[in-house]
Amino acid sequence: MLHGSCLCGAVEFEAAPSRDVIACHCTQCRKQSGHFWAATFALHRAFRLIRDDGLAWYRASPAATRGFCRHCGAFLFWQPEREDRISIAGGAFDGSTGLTIGESWFNEDAGDYYSPEGPPPRPSYAPKTLRGACLCGANRFALPGPMGDVTACHCRQCRKTSGHYSASFDAHEPDIRWQARHLAEYVSPGGGRRGFCPTCATSLFFRAADGSLSVEAGAIENPTGGRLTAHIFTAERGDYYSLSDGLPAHPGQDPAG
Ligand SMILES: [Zn+2]
Ligand SMILES: [Zn+2]
Ligand SMILES: [Zn+2]
Repeated sequence: MLHGSCLCGAVEFEAAPSRDVIACHCTQCRKQSGHFWAATFALHRAFRLIRDDGLAWYRASPAATRGFCRHCGAFLFWQPEREDRISIAGGAFDGSTGLTIGESWFNEDAGDYYSPEGPPPRPSYAPKTLRGACLCGANRFALPGPMGDVTACHCRQCRKTSGHYSASFDAHEPDIRWQARHLAEYVSPGGGRRGFCPTCATSLFFRAADGSLSVEAGAIENPTGGRLTAHIFTAERGDYYSLSDGLPAHPGQDPAG
């Protein structure tokens, strides 16, 4: 059995997965994770919740519900209707999993700032405005574009909350215009705050302890003019994936940034 949990520990489980990990680039998974999601599955009889104090569910479509932690916003589970299996985020597992990423799904729905395979495309368009929203629509905002450089973070915190790893871009918080706002904030162990929707668990932003803000790239709905440019904290990367996009990968923080 493998052990897993959300970032804050209010949801904890064990599972014996039945297959390798699948990356999903569909719009719903991109929004909720903040980049794209990756999950394995386990049969219900090979899955056990150890702690579920924080567990909440959001129904994004008639086909399935999405399980998350209402305290820290971690996106953990995808439960298809009337099936005896549950999909589990790769980022939720602790320690080595022995799993690998096999397929990737809905590649045609991937964001324009990265590519499911290989190097990210060069942006061809620089929008003046970026429009973002959470999956349920309770949060809507706009900020000046283009998105510019996007950084992928493989730290344990980002892996736990996103369900795989995160991708975000720097923004100036006073520039964000909220049209609808329904936020929860989780204070992470380093003193930063993660903003997420308490209804649908979409990851929206991270405000570092020094006040600097980064917005989750997956929340943006229009063409971004952004490009993934680096991976950071790859020393904490999950064992079930490797990086093959040719971008600089730093074991800790980006030494230049
Ligand atoms: Zn939690
Ligand atoms: Zn929402
Ligand atoms: Zn991180």
